[in-house]
Amino acid sequence: MNIHEYQGKEILNSFGVRIQRGIVASTPKEAVEAAKELTELTGTGWHVIKAQVHAGGRGKGGGVKLAKNLKEVEEIAGQIIGMNLVTPQTSAEGKKVHQVLVTEDVYYPGDSEPEEYYMSVLLNRTTGRNMIMYSTEGGMDIETVAEETPHLIFTEEIDPSVGLQGFQARRIAFNLGLSGNGFKEMTKFVTALYTAYVESDSALFEINPVLKTSDDKIMAVDAKVTLDDNALFRHKDYAAMRDIREENAVEVEAREVGLNYVDLDGNVGCMVNGAGLAMATMDLIKQAGGEPANFLDVGGTADAKRVEEAFRLILKDENVKAILINIFGGIVRCDRVAQGIVDAYKNMGNINVPIIVRLQGTNADIAKEIIDNSGLDVQSAIEFQEAADKVQAVLA
Ligand code: GDP
Ligand code: MN
Repeated sequence: MNIHEYQGKEILNSFGVRIQRGIVASTPKEAVEAAKELTELTGTGWHVIKAQVHAGGRGKGGGVKLAKNLKEVEEIAGQIIGMNLVTPQTSAEGKKVHQVLVTEDVYYPGDSEPEEYYMSVLLNRTTGRNMIMYSTEGGMDIETVAEETPHLIFTEEIDPSVGLQGFQARRIAFNLGLSGNGFKEMTKFVTALYTAYVESDSALFEINPVLKTSDDKIMAVDAKVTLDDNALFRHKDYAAMRDIREENAVEVEAREVGLNYVDLDGNVGCMVNGAGLAMATMDLIKQAGGEPANFLDVGGTADAKRVEEAFRLILKDENVKAILINIFGGIVRCDRVAQGIVDAYKNMGNINVPIIVRLQGTNADIAKEIIDNSGLDVQSAIEFQEAADKVQAVLA
């Protein structure tokens, strides 16, 4: 689950990671109040107004701006709140901004060289260990750094049985070219950051930039935090950070009815039981010349109610030109699924795309009869390839 920068910073702060301080605001008036409060707290008169959307590259899209007085805070907040922010990471329509984070300005006026670093914590899937990835080239696209100057990206892998060791934190500070106080601050920063990552059950931290001020403070200026969905049950406070305005509406609905649905760009809707079969079905659709419109795992109990819910979700996507239902009847019997499909189809009444059903497993032959005799625009198939060919035929 992705969360906003301000929420990510809250989590970091709770583990003692130094952050650029800020207060979230939903209106220009609230932004001014936030700025006043921050001035009392930090002494800075300058503030940065930052759009809160689940996308990076906000600076480039005009979603991060410096305000030198309260009037500018109000003006800039007014511009940013409500805008459709387009960044290299959003679609062409952009993302609607509902809130801004008003922060202290940590790039001190006259500070000729604040240092910006890149740092992320994530799982290395090859070794099965967490790693800290970091670079002296912060503040810019890490993808560009990786492409043009890969030798400037370092990694530090952590042994799960002992955790991040002191020498590793010091090596990171050393490789970032730090010495003296900055070196000490960086080892503290890295240590707290890693603890935060592990304790919060996160799947990704990306801090770009990590800033070193001229007085050697090391802090997170940005925070992209992805939490592990499977661990949310033990972090009720994090689970409450979900902002469904940022999520795909159909995916939100699917989660509410307990279906595993991922929206995709293609034209063939898929309804499958089992994640592995769902992946194989998507491959099959591609081979047949189509593009899957979604990933959908209806799970083990494909009864009429679930099938109907699945139909509803798939049909919300206007790009869907055909639906391929691919069910393996192992625990659930194929004839019951077939009846479920027929009932759901009749219940809904307005399904006007062709449907190809492949039922394989227990009672597959009875299922085929039910489908074939239903009088509906549903074609049955028993073999995988046969199903693919039928999909291709209806798309042609
Ligand atoms: P992103 O563009 O979505 O990655 O958002 P960031 O939080 O990384 O902010 C973008 C850029 O804004 C940073 O790289 C900084 O250059 C700039 N920025 C962020 N905070 C401050 C600040 O306190 N003062 C100044 N002057 N610039 C800042
Ligand atoms: Mn950033």
